[in-house]
Amino acid sequence: MRKSLKIIHTPGMALAAGGASRFPGEARGLARFLTGEMSTDTGAFTFEGREALLEIVAALDEIINCRMPDRTISVLKGAQVGLTTLAIGFALYCVIVHRLNVGYFLPDQDFADRFDQTRVRPALRRENIASIMREGRYKGASPKGLKEFPGRGGSRFLYVLGLKDIGNAISIPLDVLVRDEVDDLPPDNLKWSNDRIDASPLALTLNLAVGRTPGAGIHAMYEAGDRRRWHVRCPTCRTESVPEEYWPGILRACALACPECGGALKGGAGRWVAARANRRHRSYRLSQLSVGAIRLDRIAAKWAAARLPSEKARFRCSALAIPDAGDTQPISLELLRSLRDAAPYRLAEAPA
Ligand SMILES: [Zn+2]
Repeated sequence: MRKSLKIIHTPGMALAAGGASRFPGEARGLARFLTGEMSTDTGAFTFEGREALLEIVAALDEIINCRMPDRTISVLKGAQVGLTTLAIGFALYCVIVHRLNVGYFLPDQDFADRFDQTRVRPALRRENIASIMREGRYKGASPKGLKEFPGRGGSRFLYVLGLKDIGNAISIPLDVLVRDEVDDLPPDNLKWSNDRIDASPLALTLNLAVGRTPGAGIHAMYEAGDRRRWHVRCPTCRTESVPEEYWPGILRACALACPECGGALKGGAGRWVAARANRRHRSYRLSQLSVGAIRLDRIAAKWAAARLPSEKARFRCSALAIPDAGDTQPISLELLRSLRDAAPYRLAEAPA
């Protein structure tokens, strides 16, 4: 009983239950919001060729709709799989439709400053979202990166912030945390971001990144969750396989072939299977091979061009979503941590 009272009185949640869908773009669900409101480089956002994203979208929607508390979804992803567009759409959906306060955290402030112009605005299909979003003002918060959405029951906020520069501290309590490409951040900064949602009864976190360091960052988050992998069933022999685990042997003449019988596989036609139970933390490994929208001949060409061990390692990280430290393998996590702590060193983001 006490818990439900608390939910009713928490800022950012008050309108969520009754007044949820007053946005003119009208969205009953996240999937519809994404296809209706979001754009990609090639036109309107679609799940065609991105079927693997549907379960992630459904899981996010269920958490928001049922107000499941303290949930985390982590996606260890390949590059260009469409997940950042999904995450931006999800952040806007939370703010606009569910009237929640959202923090969208990126590696650093430069990245965050460019993000609005290069990723958020181009991702909007229609004017109506842009027209209700304004530069935000909130007591004690820097206006930089703060998007305000006025509406019934007061404004809600989307805060786009670089996580390395937490001098830019905020007082806005958040309900939802999105951490995008934050694979190599000092643990203190991650903890700081976690603290932002402490006051929320929802406290949902979405982590997404290309993994670069085995055992650390997004890979560690994936391991901590229920470890979902995309299983593709062979139409010929009915064997299920996880394509990225058979690379490059699974590639035959620019097509995926069943490791068991050699029959043709469709990478996008699969299902997610969790390796273990973890009710609070779902984790997905989303390789480019699971995304039909990414052409297999291009993936194969990148593999063919990768000759050095470091290039092959980069391919495994960005295409297969299997983190590989390559040439830096002898460098341990401990060493990385001590380098981080020893001023004036600063670790830069590795290129995507
Ligand atoms: Zn087969």
